[in-house]
Amino acid sequence: MSSLDRVFVVGAGPVGAVMALALSRRNIPVTLIESEKEPIEDQRAATVHPPTVEMLAELGLEEEAFSDEPSGGLQSPIFHYRNRIDNELVAVFDVNVLKGEVAYPFVLQWEQYKLVRAALKKMEGDPNAEVRFSTRLTDLKQTEDEVQLTVTNAAGESEILRGRYVIGTDGFRSSVRRLADIELEGFTWPERFIKIGTTFDYLDTDRGYCTRNYFSDPDEWLNLFQVKGNGGKGIWRGIFPVPADEPDESAMSVEGVQRRLQNLYPKSGDYDIAYHALYQVHQRVAATYNKGRVFLAGDSAHVNNPIGGMGMNGGIHDAVNLAEKLADVWFKRADDNVFDRYSRQRRKAQIDFVQAQSIANKKSLEEKDPAIRRKNLDNLRRMSEDINLHKQFIYRSSLFDSLRMANEVE
Ligand SMILES: Cc1cc2nc3c(=O)[nH]c(=O)nc-3n(C[C@H](O)[C@H](O)[C@H](O)COP(=O)(O)OP(=O)(O)OC[C@H]3O[C@@H](n4cnc5c(N)ncnc54)[C@H](O)[C@@H]3O)c2cc1C
Repeated sequence: MSSLDRVFVVGAGPVGAVMALALSRRNIPVTLIESEKEPIEDQRAATVHPPTVEMLAELGLEEEAFSDEPSGGLQSPIFHYRNRIDNELVAVFDVNVLKGEVAYPFVLQWEQYKLVRAALKKMEGDPNAEVRFSTRLTDLKQTEDEVQLTVTNAAGESEILRGRYVIGTDGFRSSVRRLADIELEGFTWPERFIKIGTTFDYLDTDRGYCTRNYFSDPDEWLNLFQVKGNGGKGIWRGIFPVPADEPDESAMSVEGVQRRLQNLYPKSGDYDIAYHALYQVHQRVAATYNKGRVFLAGDSAHVNNPIGGMGMNGGIHDAVNLAEKLADVWFKRADDNVFDRYSRQRRKAQIDFVQAQSIANKKSLEEKDPAIRRKNLDNLRRMSEDINLHKQFIYRSSLFDSLRMANEVE
């Protein structure tokens, strides 16, 4: 086999790990390179929507995803919308209304690092799959026939790797995107988001929360979700806005973190904090997802605010779409103009659905005008109480609609 009979995937986050697994499963030799020395314990994404669960199951990850061990996901069909001002339960949505219509009628709360570990393990021993940690892409060139990657390898030396295609799954600050000179168009929100993980179990309170809760509040909206963490009662993650004029140090301080949790649910004694992190939040989409032999997928191609849990899901949908098209070209079932279609389809899913929905979600939770707030909340309640509207809402928020509409794009 020529060294050119290989695809390189740069970045072993959830999208890169799934991308490499999807290619190796289709008998395409793949090398996944990652700059870190081991998979990182990234606590960002956890919400895996039903169509994504289906894709992961098709890649052979069903057992790992549904394991009862802490390494598996938490099945979470129900979510609440609440008015944080008075804890009014505005709407209860249940993905299980799609039972019989979709393969997995629930969301899986599965931390992204657990998904990465499961996907990497699946590739162990697969002759098509090679994974190289401590390997950082530093330069990239392409000719008509090949791509040439310059990397700094585990020994700290510069090395040239040659292959047929390269896929940048190297996140928001993507080197692949920069080296291929592709614009990431959009904007950055002035506020940041803080994520705080605590071992305190909100199901033990009298608030009536479920495992996934969205809170509308003109002063401080909130998302509060449970994940399995390292077992036991798991970890609850709150995502809160941090106003533009609040310094990082204040938000990240012990007092700042405790204050946010005590304001949510006052209790005696400090909260036990498992982790906390501050994020800049963007709404940006790459001008194209393909340029010759170079492709983008996941956060290298698009970023959005995390309300609704769509960034990683959309990235995995990119990976599965691209793997199918690459296999068709690789095995000469299609010519390479299908790659333009990859970009058209996945940019549509991103722009018309993920960007539009995540911006609408944020605006709705943070709305300050009392009349508009009330209208939004009443609208959510109305949708939750009518079975047809309820289903429509789930098909849209779970990204089924985005997949269907994108796949219709020629
Ligand atoms: C607070 C928060 C909560 C979120 N929750 C959700 C959620 O519930 N559901 C959801 O769908 N999304 C969620 N997201 C978004 C989600 O985290 C991202 O969309 C997802 O991590 C993107 O995955 P990725 O594999 O594309 O990129 P990344 O996870 O960023 O991985 C990129 C990898 O590339 C490596 N890399 C970078 N540069 C190089 C280089 N030059 N050479 C080699 N390797 C390199 C990095 O080390 C990293 O491992 C959330 C985001 C935030 C901030």
